[in-house]
Amino acid sequence: MKRDFQLPDIIRSIGEDMKTIWISDVLNGKFDGQNIELKGWVKRSRGSNKIRFLVLRDSTGAIQCVGKKDTLGEDAFEQLKSALIESSIIINGMVNPDERADGGYELVIQSVEIIGPVNPKTPFPITESAMAAADGGETEFLLDNRHLYLRTSRMTTMLKIRSSVFGAIHSYFRNQDFIEYQAPNFVAGAVEGGSTLFEVPYFPTEKNPERKAYLTQSWQLYAEAAMPALERLYTIAPSFRAEKSRTRRHLTEFWHAEMEVAWANNQEIMSYGEGVVRKIATTLLEERSAELESLDRDLETIARYADSKFPRIRYDEAVETLQGMGVEIEWGQDLDYSKEKVLTQDFDVPHFLTHYPKIAKPFYHRVDPDDENYVLCHDLLAPEGYGEIIGGGERTWSEEEILARIDEEGTPREPYQFYIDTRTYGGVPHGGFGLGVDRVCSWLTGADHIREVIPFPRDSRRITP
Ligand code: ATP
Ligand code: MG
Repeated sequence: MKRDFQLPDIIRSIGEDMKTIWISDVLNGKFDGQNIELKGWVKRSRGSNKIRFLVLRDSTGAIQCVGKKDTLGEDAFEQLKSALIESSIIINGMVNPDERADGGYELVIQSVEIIGPVNPKTPFPITESAMAAADGGETEFLLDNRHLYLRTSRMTTMLKIRSSVFGAIHSYFRNQDFIEYQAPNFVAGAVEGGSTLFEVPYFPTEKNPERKAYLTQSWQLYAEAAMPALERLYTIAPSFRAEKSRTRRHLTEFWHAEMEVAWANNQEIMSYGEGVVRKIATTLLEERSAELESLDRDLETIARYADSKFPRIRYDEAVETLQGMGVEIEWGQDLDYSKEKVLTQDFDVPHFLTHYPKIAKPFYHRVDPDDENYVLCHDLLAPEGYGEIIGGGERTWSEEEILARIDEEGTPREPYQFYIDTRTYGGVPHGGFGLGVDRVCSWLTGADHIREVIPFPRDSRRITP
């Protein structure tokens, strides 16, 4: 096809024959007065038997397109009329700056081709009234139709922000020479305790006809095995936890950014945690300000997270604060969501809570040599009532101590033999943390529920679609 305009260099091509013009570039004024071809999906369509207004969307934005029967002719106008919501179409037209149009531009249609039609008998189910009923949240209907809901501007926005969060984590660690490292997802033992383990039947053997594997709850133990090889390592991978209780911040499959670093103490590990969270906030301001604003997120708040130091307080202090607020909590209890929510409601920036009681934490947490009732660990609690986004700390690193801690807990040694070996041969002080990527996304977007920031959420009730 002969084109009557010069291909500007901003056109990003998908292969040589498929030059695509993005709607965002049109809205940025790069094609004023030119005849162009746009590819996308019908977001809205209205009009009369003489003139049609159609909003075309692609992954970058939406533009109003207008077609008149007089200029298009009967057949083309009928084509235009029959392009129902979410049909995919190719439109040729002239870019016309127009202040009255949303986004300041209108495309005057010259021809239209329907690529993937929508049958009038089965119209696109996610209507504006279905969205209004959900009021920015998610109804069962929207969850059932998640595969189609992904196309709405709210979900598209969440997915773009999510992508920037993943990118920020990768660049933070890579810029500091961390090595990306992968652990198996089928494992033989628990990290976070047996109650949230997913069992999978796994090829019976003669010795073990009932053999089971488990889905990993964390990359950590396998990362510790590679710590003497790589010293600084990280991953972003799914973790699986059979969380029975339904909360706004738990998924059964979530994305876990974890790091492990040799020769580091609790304070240094917290500095990495603060660093990565601030990097995520900075990246969102650079890459996704418009998206955050479209979710009514205050950019000043995100800038405060990007620019502040995060205070570090001891568990004991937090318990006293909570008790002072009239919350019932006993020393030695882990903080559950209800307590973290109260505690963080008035925080203006994330806070680290350090030195939890030993009795609240599993064997791999290193006991504080200054007071054996505590372990050298930390949780990072996000403000605005969001609560824990990071859990980390120093690991029990000497062979003698790890054996004592495993026995003390009554945990069988056998599945952890490989882990014990990492101490038997040249153990060194080290530690790391795990950050819940979906939790960070939901906090920074201001979402009501963690489900809103992941394409296909998995929880105790739902594994479809
Ligand atoms: P919680 O007490 O909130 O259940 P946890 O202490 O069990 O979390 P960790 O084992 O410390 O969680 O995991 C590290 C991080 O992974 C947490 O700080 C959190 O951000 C995230 N995370 C843990 N469990 C889930 C889950 N079920 N869904 C989403 N994110 C999770
Ligand atoms: Mg934790």
